[in-house]
Amino acid sequence: MTSERVVPFRARDGFECNLVNVRAAERPEKGPVLLVHGAGVRANIFRAPSGRNIVDVLVDAGYDVWLENWRASIDLTPNRWTLDQAAVNDHPAAVETVVSETGAPELKAIIHCQGSTSFMMSAVAGLVPQVTTILTNAVTLHPVIPLWSRLKISYGIPAVGRLTDYLNPQWGLAAPGMTPKVLNGIVQAFHHECSNPVCKEVSATYGSGFPALWRHENLNDETHEWLKGEFAHVPITFFDQMRRCVAEGRLVAVDGNDELPRDFTAQPPATDARFVFFAGLENRCFLPESQVRTFRWFEDHDPGRHALHELRGYSHLDVFMGRHAARDVFPLMLTELERSPARAAVGAAS
Ligand SMILES: [Zn+2]
Repeated sequence: MTSERVVPFRARDGFECNLVNVRAAERPEKGPVLLVHGAGVRANIFRAPSGRNIVDVLVDAGYDVWLENWRASIDLTPNRWTLDQAAVNDHPAAVETVVSETGAPELKAIIHCQGSTSFMMSAVAGLVPQVTTILTNAVTLHPVIPLWSRLKISYGIPAVGRLTDYLNPQWGLAAPGMTPKVLNGIVQAFHHECSNPVCKEVSATYGSGFPALWRHENLNDETHEWLKGEFAHVPITFFDQMRRCVAEGRLVAVDGNDELPRDFTAQPPATDARFVFFAGLENRCFLPESQVRTFRWFEDHDPGRHALHELRGYSHLDVFMGRHAARDVFPLMLTELERSPARAAVGAAS
């Protein structure tokens, strides 16, 4: 039997977020693992009805699981967020909350997509020193996207941004007003890959491909239906920042906050964490090259310490939602979580 509870926390600027703590026992035998979701979804994205999801697997392995709803979560108040805001305000406060709630001095993290970019910003800026091992999926410091996505984010988003502050895949089910109706009409006219209007909206919003964020053959029917309720509002402010990041080939800060460098790759990472990069080779949201580039960047700073796993047959979110992810992906993640984050003892006596 697992138990779960919601632990509210305030981000450093006062924004109200929460953590969902899932445990198998009163005192888990292993330490805390923080899971950080992507844009326009919520903590629940890690709990697909796919068979055994990553939360089941971590809890069964004895971990104390913490799912962070940060300001991009559709469970929280809609807001025009940037990655900078999350990096400075949300993730450091979430980590501090887990530390104070558990008494554990350190924790591990599994971060996905824009939870990954923003958490990586926190990490390389030295704002989450308690996190020793970080497993990341899809994209971190070097966003690389397909050509069609570049055209959309460069020309489509600025045009659409004059009409609306948010996009919302829920418009596939109910489009309130002229702009949502017109945009959804365009999406449904060009997407014929399935009969799930939210699935098609998600592909049009976040990538290139039919679909863009998963391979249909990787999802069971229940998960394909379930995802209808898991995607909602995402602000244009995020796409505006990502357009600048993609143009520069690396993450850049946009808010001018003193705690963050403008270019996150311009100086060595201010973290001792060990990083493990996962990249679905079929990803049509962020190309696998994204993770390869960041892995190499970390390798340049600390050769032989980090790891990269390229996942054949996987895309973006099916890495977590796939019906065979418990067979193909999660054992790798468990193995990497178990590995020591310690730096190699250079020059140590043998
Ligand atoms: Zn579909």
